[in-house]
Amino acid sequence: MFEKTGKFLIVSCTQEKEGTVTLTLPKMTRKNFTIAKIACLAVSCLIILILSANSPSKGFLDGLAGSIGIDNRLVRVLFPVLLAILLNLVLTFSVRSLWLRLEVEPEHTAIIKAGDLQVNTTRGIAGVPYFRSRLKHIIDSPENSVVDILNSIISAGFSLEASDIHISPDVDSADVVMRIHGNLYPVCEIPFQLYSHFVRRIKIVSGLSIFRQGVPQDGQINFEDPSYTARISVFPTSNGERIAMRLASSHSGTMNLESIGMPDDILLDYRALLNRSQGMIVITGPTGSGKSTTMFASLLDIQKQRKDSVNIVTLEDPIETNLRGFQQTQVGQSTGLTFSSGLRSVLRQDPDVIMVGEIRDEETAAISIRAAMTGHLILTTVHANSTSGVFNRLSQMGVDPVQLSSTVHAVLSQRLCRRLCQSCRKEKELTEAHIRQLKLLGVEGIPEGPFFESGGCDQCIGLGFTGRVPLFEMFLVTDRLRDFISNGCPAHQLSREARNAGMKTLLDHGLELAREGMISLMELTRVVSE
Ligand SMILES: [Zn+2]
Repeated sequence: MFEKTGKFLIVSCTQEKEGTVTLTLPKMTRKNFTIAKIACLAVSCLIILILSANSPSKGFLDGLAGSIGIDNRLVRVLFPVLLAILLNLVLTFSVRSLWLRLEVEPEHTAIIKAGDLQVNTTRGIAGVPYFRSRLKHIIDSPENSVVDILNSIISAGFSLEASDIHISPDVDSADVVMRIHGNLYPVCEIPFQLYSHFVRRIKIVSGLSIFRQGVPQDGQINFEDPSYTARISVFPTSNGERIAMRLASSHSGTMNLESIGMPDDILLDYRALLNRSQGMIVITGPTGSGKSTTMFASLLDIQKQRKDSVNIVTLEDPIETNLRGFQQTQVGQSTGLTFSSGLRSVLRQDPDVIMVGEIRDEETAAISIRAAMTGHLILTTVHANSTSGVFNRLSQMGVDPVQLSSTVHAVLSQRLCRRLCQSCRKEKELTEAHIRQLKLLGVEGIPEGPFFESGGCDQCIGLGFTGRVPLFEMFLVTDRLRDFISNGCPAHQLSREARNAGMKTLLDHGLELAREGMISLMELTRVVSE
């Protein structure tokens, strides 16, 4: 049993009769390790000196010199030196391993207790000023340890519904910035003298090696309450180690298709597709466009529609949110399972619906299509520039276009736009620059306004934006479009045919939202051109 207090690592072992024996071991800092290395060298030299001084060893060395034909005196000096170097290496390595083991072992069990997290519900980003002053107070009070500071920052992150916390060291302090609804908000600064302790604490609760500095490390914070997860990435910079945390909580709102902002006409068709017993539905969009949220809302919808009589399995890299009722499996380097090998095995588990995190190689594409043709509904993501581009991408991965046309029901594309703060948005005339930008994106003629731009007020802490709104586009595979897909039509032609068949594009949806004053034209052109 190990316990960490103050400057020392307490190694304690409970003995049944004599009570508790407590040993102390100094922390393995660089300075302490240098002292240990010198001690190892001294011990090695001493052992070799004692050994080489006795007469049997001398006899052995003389015999050795005779057999290889070298001068006795040379062997008497060289051989002990070589032996001392070797012994020193073995000794240093053993001491380092043992020390690290003793020091690291308790840290793997360090967790953030449920009582240490104080997650309050706030009024969205309007809560930022409150947490700014609260964190400043906690950091400035000398009685608070780095443990309290880290717990408070994480609690603030979850309270503010931040998706990420970035901690970047600078010359005299480290800036803590949170990404809330897509925007970055500075929340506090950690003084430089505390920073190395702070990083150490993060590494301890994420099961990372505290001794390894200057190399990137990835981990996950251990929370006692399993509804919270935080993935940690530590990255070395010239000012120290930079930390990025990706937060996820199963408390953050109920995920359902109604609440994710899908337009009604797309929602009706999409829901009908989710009720199919086989086939494939693909979601596409850049990183951070809300694909995972849509995917999980879809799975929850299937579960609700089919009244729990459905076996839903997921293959994810990594698992971002733990959800009740699904069999979630992590794939990736840490588990040694790939999407293709995981998919092959999971098919033997008699699933009805399979969520495949991403199709990015030929093998996964082939198995997914085969599964979708044999009585399974597959929900997946494919990286492509547009909905129509997904068909070309899958063809490039070796999927037969005819199979593709008969298996894929629809491709959904999405983007996230920053929502204009409704209390300070300002009406804006359409400028020549806007018209040109829209023209480049394929808008014909001059769209009718009014349009709006961001202002700045207390509600949005001067940024002009609050929250985000999604843009959706759904490429529904109809009989007519099926012919074009099976003929291997290029993406632009497919897109044109789909638009002729009534598909509303991301841009159409965005222009509607811009006219309603939900987003600005600048935001729309930025997001759609991604
Ligand atoms: Zn505002």
